Amino acid sequence: MSNTRKWSSKKQRSLEILVRLKRLYPDATCSLNYSTPVQLLVATILSAQCTDERVNLVTPALFGRFPDAPSLANADLSELENLVRSTGFYRNKAKNIQAACRMIVNEFGGEVPKQMEQLLLLPGVARKTANVVLAHAFGINAGVTVDTHVKRLSQRLGLTEHTEPIHIERDLIRLLPQADWENWSIRLIYHGRAVCKARNPACEICELADLCSSAPVIREQLSLISKQPNQKPNY
Ligand code: SF4
Repeated sequence: MSNTRKWSSKKQRSLEILVRLKRLYPDATCSLNYSTPVQLLVATILSAQCTDERVNLVTPALFGRFPDAPSLANADLSELENLVRSTGFYRNKAKNIQAACRMIVNEFGGEVPKQMEQLLLLPGVARKTANVVLAHAFGINAGVTVDTHVKRLSQRLGLTEHTEPIHIERDLIRLLPQADWENWSIRLIYHGRAVCKARNPACEICELADLCSSAPVIREQLSLISKQPNQKPNY
């Protein structure tokens, strides 16, 4: 019998995965440090291609010097670049942060907008950043955040066959209750960091294994590798 056949539909399987993720990671929350919506927006822009831990090392000095949208809008760009340098792609990130804060000051009365369409007008802000800001700064579940972990795990779990984040998000939106859209992402990120890692998914200890369409394939590959040590895994 296929690993997932006992679950009558993909939706039912998704809901069971959600239940287990909530049980496994009851206190999961956004791991970026911030005090205001603007600071969350800035931290999320900085988190592209960078770990949250690294961002949290950078933001105390950044927000100590430039705590809000007006100060970031008027910051000296080279000083801003230096403060965010260790997060990578720092020139682009600093430019986008400043341009986004200028737009917030000039067009949104100094407040981070609460509508997806308006957030997407800000330089450097795509749906991933907008979803994080709406969910964690304002408690609005406007979509499902699809980062590298959510993408990988949703594919491995067999909940999407797509590779583009926008299409993966659409698949997940159809499968999950709106109230759980963001907490799905947060908990899947926790599971991706702890168990379902990119290179070595620990299927043998994974509490989602009976719900995962990749588990049998990965187990088979690992068993082949143990017999032929030079073979590389295909995931
Ligand atoms: S069973 Fe394996 S591939 Fe599936 S979610 Fe768990 S660790 Fe990832």
